[in-house]
Amino acid sequence: MTLFAIRPWRRLVQAGVLLAFIGIPFLNKAEYNALSGNFLAFNFAGVPLGDPLAALQVMTGALSATAPMLVGAGLALLLAALMGPVFCSWLCPFGFLSELAHRNKGCALPARGRPALSPRPFAARAAIVAAGLAAIPLFVPTPALNQLSMPGWYSRAMQHAVLYHEVLWGGVILIAAVLAAELVSGKRFWCRWVCPQSVLIGLAGLPLPARFRVRFNRSACTCAADDRACLAACHLCLNPRLTNAPQRAQCANCGDCVDACSGRGKALSMGFGKQIQCLRRPGRCPGPRRGK
Ligand code: SF4
Ligand code: SF4
Repeated sequence: MTLFAIRPWRRLVQAGVLLAFIGIPFLNKAEYNALSGNFLAFNFAGVPLGDPLAALQVMTGALSATAPMLVGAGLALLLAALMGPVFCSWLCPFGFLSELAHRNKGCALPARGRPALSPRPFAARAAIVAAGLAAIPLFVPTPALNQLSMPGWYSRAMQHAVLYHEVLWGGVILIAAVLAAELVSGKRFWCRWVCPQSVLIGLAGLPLPARFRVRFNRSACTCAADDRACLAACHLCLNPRLTNAPQRAQCANCGDCVDACSGRGKALSMGFGKQIQCLRRPGRCPGPRRGK
């Protein structure tokens, strides 16, 4: 484990969050309530944190919202606006488990000359959210998209098991079934194609061009034409060298591609500021082209 690789630190944070949501219900049982709640609504020492999609569902269904709900959703969106969808790669316990299930197979690399990124996964999730927000309040009074929240199910299942001695079978079976399917298929299809929770945080990161992000400096890229280590490193099957809107909405700033590039030309880095990106217009790139 090198001190400067991002991934070991990310794994540490992911494992810490996963375990924290097992430990917090025990603290609550012992009547320590400075931390309480789940991934839909959480109390952090008096500061409300919340899932923006859960808040939006309540607001569109009931046309009302409480102040804690707005503050909680607003803080989550502010984090995403400044840092991108880091919730998915650093905090979400289901994302962590899904990455572990996926790690032995990896994404299939695209044919040479074809970009790895398809906008379809993000478009599919956005369609689920739009349809849910528009149609569900007409039929059911509850925020039904919460039933598709894997981090919500994970944290609620732990709460119910410890505090109420009951098993939330629906959530447990859903998580186990999706993980089993991802283990067998090698595809992270829930996070890439289904999860509606990540749509709003993905969109929140789009307006600020100088937010925290992966940056590609083509002039520093030293990889051979058939060496695409950064593509192989991305568990979301993105092309880290692209910067279009679907890419920015989906890239979770995990840093795995930056780690993969660090032993090569260090053309990929992470930081605040606008992207240097010339993959699609190589004639306009700063620095020498290297024939890729
Ligand atoms: S896409 Fe959804 S389930 Fe996947 S890591 Fe993000 S919030 Fe978690
Ligand atoms: S492009 Fe890089 S930082 Fe973004 S999700 Fe893929 S590996 Fe992680």
